[in-house]
Amino acid sequence: MRALEMLSGHVLDRAAQLGSPTSLAHMDPPTPWITWAMALWNASLNQNMLHEMTSPFATQAEALVLSWLAPYFGMQGGHFCAGSTIANLTGIWAARDAAGVKKVVTSQAAHLSVEKACRLLGLELVKVAVDRQGRLDCKHLPNLNDACLVLTAGTTATGAIDPLDLVGAAKWTHVDAAWAGPLRLSQTHSGRLDGIEAADSVAVSAHKWLFQPKDSALVMFRNLEIANEAISFGGGYLTRPNIGVQGSRSAAAIPLLATLLAWGREGLAQRLDHLMQMAEVLADAIEKSDRLELWGRPQTAINVFRPVCSSTAALLQALPPGVLSTCVLDGQTWARSVAANPLVDMDLVVERILAASREDA
Ligand SMILES: *Cc1c(COP(=O)(O)O)cnc(C)c1O
Repeated sequence: MRALEMLSGHVLDRAAQLGSPTSLAHMDPPTPWITWAMALWNASLNQNMLHEMTSPFATQAEALVLSWLAPYFGMQGGHFCAGSTIANLTGIWAARDAAGVKKVVTSQAAHLSVEKACRLLGLELVKVAVDRQGRLDCKHLPNLNDACLVLTAGTTATGAIDPLDLVGAAKWTHVDAAWAGPLRLSQTHSGRLDGIEAADSVAVSAHKWLFQPKDSALVMFRNLEIANEAISFGGGYLTRPNIGVQGSRSAAAIPLLATLLAWGREGLAQRLDHLMQMAEVLADAIEKSDRLELWGRPQTAINVFRPVCSSTAALLQALPPGVLSTCVLDGQTWARSVAANPLVDMDLVVERILAASREDA
């Protein structure tokens, strides 16, 4: 009890308030209560996905969640991992050892985890320029015969979706859908990711737009057997091969299963549709303001903009923390908003941002 008392003032009171009405800075959503309950069960039961013996139901739950989710991406299945950094590493690892790729080709706007994976796997990395919407520019693509092409569905800085008609143009195509992957569950927005179903592997962060507690992500494969064979190790004490990068793994599928049961696909899609809509509302307000410049219309609920007359730093300083973040594009610092918080009060945010843009001049 004393430890709780000692910590509550720090852990609870000094946490970033991701569900506050003005929280719009990062890709981390507030989590629904059902996931806290499941996270507590998980912590107390401490199941280990490494052995079926230590996770009899959790193993089934993971298979169930994957058999439901993977088809939205055209994938056969896969496994949970601690984040899309690891999901990307796993996908590129499979590309190297199942397809024998020699290099990785991706856009300049790709997440740094792609570069990390190349460093770890000893693969050459070729970065291709992006167009004015922040998407990989096909004009600059090198020969892809022996390459793993990594396309991003929702880049971290601007939310751009690379041209997914390129899926299949390389020996292996991995789609980093860490951010925007869940749009596949929305009837309104699923089409934005058309083409993803022909990828060889896909990464999705469940702790972003599937509203899961960390650490929760998915790596999925179109040909599961071939991929798993390339990324499995069978130790003597293991009842089945250890698949993927991690050894011991938590039962992260259980909070996601609970969320899917509680909200259904519809409920999840409604939240995503709402967040996409909120980003449009903010973009409209920025475009209307003569003090702010919009970088481009939001593609996956991320807005990038800056003050016309003053600096991005001054704009952020005139706002409470947690409203906006920044990103650097072509050497310039821009303000960035990410709609991950379904509880956001967008009218209030717009009001604050417009007021700050008047104040900072
Ligand atoms: C967040 C993100 C990642 C990394 O995912 P983590 O779950 O934070 O490890 C990779 N790619 C993109 C596009 C991302 O937005």
